[in-house]
Amino acid sequence: MIPYGRQEITQADIDAVVSVLESDFLTQGPQVPRFEKAVAQHVGAKHALAVNSATSALHLACLALGLGEGDWLWTSPITFVASANCGLYCGAQVDFVDIDPRTYNLCPKTLAVKLAKAEKEGRLPKVVVAVHLCGQPSDMQALHALSLRYGFHIIEDASHAIGGKYQGEFIGNGHYSDITVFSFHPVKIITTAEGGMALTNDNNLASRMNLLRSHGITRDPALMTHKADGPWYYQQVELGFNYRMTELQAALGVSQMDRLDAFVVRRHELAKRYDELLKELPVILPWQHPDSYSGLHLYVIRLELNAINQTHRHVFEALHERGIGVNLHYIPVHTQPYYQAMGFKPEDFPEAMQYYREAISLPMYPTMSESQQDEVIYVLNSVLGDKL
Ligand SMILES: *Cc1c(COP(=O)(O)O)cnc(C)c1O
Repeated sequence: MIPYGRQEITQADIDAVVSVLESDFLTQGPQVPRFEKAVAQHVGAKHALAVNSATSALHLACLALGLGEGDWLWTSPITFVASANCGLYCGAQVDFVDIDPRTYNLCPKTLAVKLAKAEKEGRLPKVVVAVHLCGQPSDMQALHALSLRYGFHIIEDASHAIGGKYQGEFIGNGHYSDITVFSFHPVKIITTAEGGMALTNDNNLASRMNLLRSHGITRDPALMTHKADGPWYYQQVELGFNYRMTELQAALGVSQMDRLDAFVVRRHELAKRYDELLKELPVILPWQHPDSYSGLHLYVIRLELNAINQTHRHVFEALHERGIGVNLHYIPVHTQPYYQAMGFKPEDFPEAMQYYREAISLPMYPTMSESQQDEVIYVLNSVLGDKL
């Protein structure tokens, strides 16, 4: 089976992890700050906080922004459930904004209409999570302008997007948002096995997330309620969590960062080849906004169901039967039973539903060879020609 995505692990990565195993620190040593510095410098952010997953980073980001009961978090329905669940963790309510039919990211025009209505009803969101689907940045300039008008915070869920750029600058520099989150799950662009990171330029947000990722415990005298009892002393000043990243993970991350740019370049080569070799097929190819240089975590095609004599499901199953491990990103979050129980109806977000009926993620990862890619194209061609 040709998988839809997979990690690349080199001998240098293995050596980096083994050397941590042989060192004094398996956790809370020098590798985590080293990894944080490498990512912060690469993308141009002031602070970076490594944690054990992007899900944890999203939770910390929401807490640091003060999201809580009585507040609303809005995001795109076409995302992994974690982009929305982080609001629920904080006791807030979640709502969605339908996608732009070309970029598949949350549509700023739809957002503007929904904000105007919410303002009248007194239920404006406190946080909007902008998901950079497939690695393509959301329309951050438009979202930022709306955030100034309506007073909400922006979290960029850039789980797909490390190494990509918006308006010529690396995603994660925080130009148009409060906090950016990356994921280092093995299918993503670089990996630490499990892992994530929250980046910000705001000292206060960084300090809150730092506290909350480790039990709400501090050794910083400036954060304590009174003078230390002695050199052993620490204080718990908030209810935090254990969301820390290990030294093993961070060492892998540092090693992977050396190849980040090469990974993204390779993804662009593969995407360009797909663009060329699929252009005659009855499928919609991924459209790239001129302001964006995508991280290209995913290559999503949409089937032109009117032009082929097939169902979406048949195409998906037939590709699997012939060894092509396609996937679907994502099942609209508002159709999940947990969200249905909150009263969402599938057709509340028609563009998201239309996307869901047509989308297929083709295999793409840095170690994919051209002959593997040719195999995907050959099989896709023949499956689209199948008769029902
Ligand atoms: C993978 C992913 C997450 C969650 O990342 P983890 O590191 O697995 O917690 C969140 N949002 C999006 C868009 C993702 O793709």
